[in-house]
Amino acid sequence: MGGGIDSAVVLALLVAMGERPELLFFDYGQSTGVKEMYAVTQLARHYGLRDNVHCLQVDPRLFVCNYTSHGDVRDRKKGPLSLSPSYAPRRNSVLVTLATAWAESYRVPDVFLGIVRGEFGSKLGSSPDTNLEWLQQLEFALQMGGARNVKVNAPLARMRKSQAVDLAVALGCPLDLTWSCHVDGDTHCGACSACIGRREAFARGKVPDPTTYVE
Ligand SMILES: [Zn+2]
Repeated sequence: MGGGIDSAVVLALLVAMGERPELLFFDYGQSTGVKEMYAVTQLARHYGLRDNVHCLQVDPRLFVCNYTSHGDVRDRKKGPLSLSPSYAPRRNSVLVTLATAWAESYRVPDVFLGIVRGEFGSKLGSSPDTNLEWLQQLEFALQMGGARNVKVNAPLARMRKSQAVDLAVALGCPLDLTWSCHVDGDTHCGACSACIGRREAFARGKVPDPTTYVE
């Protein structure tokens, strides 16, 4: 679970279904790890799940990128197929796999991911490890590759982020507690791909954006 909108919506969805999920947060050296962890904690507290938060450390030397080195992650919009400046090499594949390892270890049958429909190839720089084909292949491989069955679920995978925002509102999810930005500042920067995606999602959705942006 990250600190952003997508994770929060999946959490709200599970709670609405009567579940009390365990919340895995991965600290892999991301620049905004403290902010994200705070958001996860706040969301967990909101849903009475503070004791269900697990912070797992991942060696940051795995992910050499601007997002783990406090480099420039502002999105320059270079055009189609541009890679997000905050892309961390194969991060999503690694973290999803680790989540299934944790689930098998603790005999948890389901893993839920907060991933919305990928936008790689759109004018907004994004990441190749968010598209539906990648997700389906990974789900299949991970369900095969363990001693116990762990099902990987991505309930938002066919939704755009704006639809996730609308779902969050319908579920009463407190999106003001979320943190999306990839820059470690006091408020959202407004210029990184995460901020641009967040702002666009609210603009297309049905609710006002509660976020303060630097620019
Ligand atoms: Zn930002």
